[in-house]
Parts: sequence; structure tokens; C-alpha cells
Amino acid sequence: MSAIKQTIIRGGMESLYFTGAHMALKPFVAGVGVILTLHHVRPARPDRFQPNRGLEVTPEFLTRVVKALRRSRLDFISLDEMHRRMRARDFSRRFVCLTFDDGYRDVKQWAYPILKNEGVPFAMYIPTSFPDRLGELWWLALEAVIARNARIRIQIDGRNRTFDCATVAEKRALYDELYWWLRSRPTEAELRDTIRDLAASYHVDLAAFCDELSLTWQELSELAADPLVTIGAHTVNHVMLAKLPAETARSEMDLSRSIIHAALGASPEHLSYPIGDRSSAGPREFAIAAELGFKTAVTTRQGVLFPKHNEHLTALPRISLNGAYQRLRYVRVLLSGSATAMWNGFRRLDAA
Ligand SMILES: [Zn+2]
Repeated sequence: MSAIKQTIIRGGMESLYFTGAHMALKPFVAGVGVILTLHHVRPARPDRFQPNRGLEVTPEFLTRVVKALRRSRLDFISLDEMHRRMRARDFSRRFVCLTFDDGYRDVKQWAYPILKNEGVPFAMYIPTSFPDRLGELWWLALEAVIARNARIRIQIDGRNRTFDCATVAEKRALYDELYWWLRSRPTEAELRDTIRDLAASYHVDLAAFCDELSLTWQELSELAADPLVTIGAHTVNHVMLAKLPAETARSEMDLSRSIIHAALGASPEHLSYPIGDRSSAGPREFAIAAELGFKTAVTTRQGVLFPKHNEHLTALPRISLNGAYQRLRYVRVLLSGSATAMWNGFRRLDAA
């Protein structure tokens, strides 16, 4: 996300908070509950070039969020209990589900002790290629290539292009440009090929990120043994499903469930679509997930849950706890539903 866009969002949240508008809007937009999206939890690093900073929050921030949510009388519940309440229309108390995508080791190291101590249930959505040590964390390879070089040569739309990226400002701008260009590739294969070429040319070890950052099956089985922890599916290869042929998309979802079952002894009943925005998951994927029998599936479309979502349990919105906005007042605004309601034009359901 660009710095300007971040500033606008931050400004919007500040004004919602300080004008009290989030409280005025709350009865109309707060819905019945919320599913939070997190990725990494670890201490902050000093580097100035951290384009993936949005994917991590600090242990201190997570602690403050959990304590604040407890004080505001929200129920922390598991995905199974969320599913039950949605189906039974049991909306007597607002609820929150904590979900962590990708299965990072730092979640076990930093978040788990906090959540365990507070008795907070949470879910981890696992792309099975990560514990299988075959995952391509391409966004981190892109970051490393740009971080370690002052100039990059890359073929874009058939043309050789050269970019200067010696300064932090240039690195940030180039990361944004290349990231969104890659995300806009019509196929996942093209994205991956470009990253493999780039990593090879600039001597970045693409496999090392997966090895260093992802939980192993052994570590996952230790977590899965705790009743507080739900293990969910997140495909095999962490792909943008909507860009794949239907049969491949189906097998990515189905196979990841079988692999988790084989490795951990239980079949996951909840799914998270990788990337999870409109370009990665749409009506076709929502239908496949329902056909495959997943109880729920989550997107990264931003929003709180309304009763009507019980007819769209494989197209659920979430609220991202974005590392770029680690202030409690932003969390209060997001959970009031007012920020996302404004972004969504006050449309409650977005399952198409
Ligand atoms: Zn993911």
C-alpha cells in the first residue's frame, strides 16, 4: 500500500475516532461479530525498508488488543463456535475470532504464550507447502532483492527495464510498483516464474524464507493438540485461486485438507483463501469451498459479520490487524464497523 494511501486511511480512522462518529455509527454497522486477520507476531525491527510491515504486529500490541477487547465485553470464540452461532442465529453477545494466516513460527513463539495465558482461542490457516518446505514466499524474495541491490534489471511486459533503488524512498516505490505489477499478472505461474528468475539473478535463496519462517509439521502438531487452537486450510501452494482453472482451484483446496489430515490426524473444516481479495477469491471459489464441505471460509475483504452472512459462510469478510496501524484507537474504530462500512459504502454483504 502506498504511503499516501496509508496516510489517508490513518487520517480517516483518526477522524472517525476523535469526532466520535465511530460511536454514533456503531449500532448500525457493528454487526454481530468480527474475524480478525493476522500474520506475523514479533518484536519490531529497526530497518527503514519494510514493505511487508503491514503483515506483522508486535507482541505488546497483541497483548493490548486482547486486553482491550476483553474490557469491551466481546466473546473470544473459536471458528467452530462462530459457525454454530451464525447457524443458530445466536447473537446475544458480540464475538471476535482471531485468525493467523500462513502458519509462521513467530506466532507460536510470541502470540501463543499471550493467547494461552488469556485463554483466547485462535485459528491458524496453513498452506501445506510451507510445512512441507516447498513454499515460495515470493513477497519476501521481492523485498530481499530490492533491499540488497541498488539497481534491478527485470523484464516487464516483454521489455527489459532497469530501476534504480539505492535509497529507501526508491526501494519503497519500486517494491510497490513491482508488487502490484506481479499481483496483476493474469496467471500465478507468470508471477512465480518472474520471482524465480529475479531470485536466481540476484542470488536470493527463495526456499530459505519458508524454511526459516514457517512452522514444521512437528511444531504444528504440538499446537494442534491444544483445544484453544484450530488448524484451518489455506491451499497447498498459497495461490490466487481465482486465476486457476476450476479443477486446479478445487484440488488446491481439497488436497490441502487431505495433507493436513494425513499430517495432523484431523481434517480441517475451515478455509482461508490465499491473498483473499477480489482477484483471488470470488463466487466460483465460494461455491467450491461450500461443495467441498468446509464449514466456513474467509476472505480478506474488509468487514464485520452481520446475521445475513449465515447464508454466505464460505465468503466471510475479516478485519485486518495491520501492522502499519498499531494504535488501539484504530482497532476500536475498525471493530465499531464504521471504517469498513464507509469503505464498503455501507453495503453489508459483499459475497459476489
Ligand atoms: Zn496467506
